[in-house]
Amino acid sequence: LEPAYQFMVRVRAPGGVVTPDQWLVMDRIGQKYANGSIRLTTRQSFQFHGILKWNMKEGMKEINDSLLTTLAACGDVNRNVMCNPNPYQSEVHSQVFAWSQRLSEHLSPQTKAYHELWLDGEKILDSQDTGEVQEPIYGPAYLPRKFKIGIAVPPSNDVDVFSQDLGFIAIYEGGQLKGFNVAVGGGMGMTHGDDLTYPQLAKVIGFCLPEQIVDVAEKTVMIQRDFGDRSVRKHARFKYTIDDRGIDWFVSELSSRLGWSLQETRPYQFDSNGDRYGWVKGSNKNWHLTIMVENGRIDDEDGSTLMTGLREIAKVHTGDFRLTANQNLIIANVTNQNKKKIEKLANVYGLTDGLNHSALRRNSMACVALPTCGMAMAEAERYLPVFLGKLELILEEVGLREEEIVIRMTGCPNGCARPALAELSFIGKGPGKYNMYMGASFSGDRLNKLFRENIDENEILQTLQPIFYRYAQDRLAGEHFGDFVIRAGYIQAVTDGTNFHA
Ligand code: SF4
Repeated sequence: LEPAYQFMVRVRAPGGVVTPDQWLVMDRIGQKYANGSIRLTTRQSFQFHGILKWNMKEGMKEINDSLLTTLAACGDVNRNVMCNPNPYQSEVHSQVFAWSQRLSEHLSPQTKAYHELWLDGEKILDSQDTGEVQEPIYGPAYLPRKFKIGIAVPPSNDVDVFSQDLGFIAIYEGGQLKGFNVAVGGGMGMTHGDDLTYPQLAKVIGFCLPEQIVDVAEKTVMIQRDFGDRSVRKHARFKYTIDDRGIDWFVSELSSRLGWSLQETRPYQFDSNGDRYGWVKGSNKNWHLTIMVENGRIDDEDGSTLMTGLREIAKVHTGDFRLTANQNLIIANVTNQNKKKIEKLANVYGLTDGLNHSALRRNSMACVALPTCGMAMAEAERYLPVFLGKLELILEEVGLREEEIVIRMTGCPNGCARPALAELSFIGKGPGKYNMYMGASFSGDRLNKLFRENIDENEILQTLQPIFYRYAQDRLAGEHFGDFVIRAGYIQAVTDGTNFHA
């Protein structure tokens, strides 16, 4: 007898777009092999928890049969390519989404071991085969650490483009994609107590044409492969390679490998890094419904019918589903004929109930943390909804229930829910204890900064109450919370991660 080892499985879906049939497969995996739930992640992927070892192979096969994969959803390679799931400018989305798929395919590892191990179990080597895996981009040792790519479509910065190792900002005119601004060297992770580690914002270095995006990504990944730190894992992310050697070094190295130079950066403007909820009509005349999925967890627990509702919708939906970078979901490309049917199902199963939550909750995000993440030092997903209830009482008292404030919580400083880019964030320090950070911008282009260390719920509420009161009274018209706490002198602005601990 062997112990019932259980695993987390993450499924890659470039740009977070899946068909209704694929959704039904995800639903079945969640029910049949996992803990009865689906978890939408901050990188537009699916996660399943609690899959027992003896169910792994069958589950992986079903995922692959649905034309999705777990290959490169983890590991020291390029991860799921994120892409703004923008339902508003449908033409631009379809062009940008197509490039995100090209990037994802191009940067996928070529190894056959995955298929040998998980799919048919047969060794693919034959007598002529040398046994060497040909990885033209990654080489024999892959990357020093994971690598993350995201594409934003302004004015939405929902993918937090400045948190990516390599970010692309779509530039478009009249519904036509002109190209992408390129941003390099972002990243969220750090280690408590180690000031040599810090979150960093990607720096915008120029502009490329759409057909140049794959080349730019490939050469950037190869530069990190060749220059990234392979001796100290905490220092192995691309942001440190760039900060140690300087952005000018990187631009010159990139130009030399490309054989051409990026053009001058084009103007762009972001207005938020959150999601817009509810129904909208896209420029392709189809309808799109964005629903709030609190912390990305889809199940039928505690009276919820979210999982059942989405299953029933998937059975009749003719469009697609889009996972957002904020762990929410868009039921996208609903035709005029189908809209009433989908609307009815969404109402019957309470899928749109989240639209009535406070603006704070609508802009909240937590990582998985306990009990399924081995890195967690404190609760996040299970605790944030309760904690928000206490903050909402204060906000209601001061008339700020509808004030959009981006709030994020993680169980450790690895930063999976991108806490350093939240106007208000909490990072687990120990059971029931958090570091509290404030001052990031509403549009995701400024980091926050440590305000109080290792405090419990009571201390957090006592700390925040007077700040919320003052914000309600003294804020300027339209002034976001993150901007206010800087203007009011609570915290300094951080526009470069090397000043995060200063
Ligand atoms: Fe990521 Fe840390 Fe949260 Fe685990 S506890 S999901 S590693 S941020």
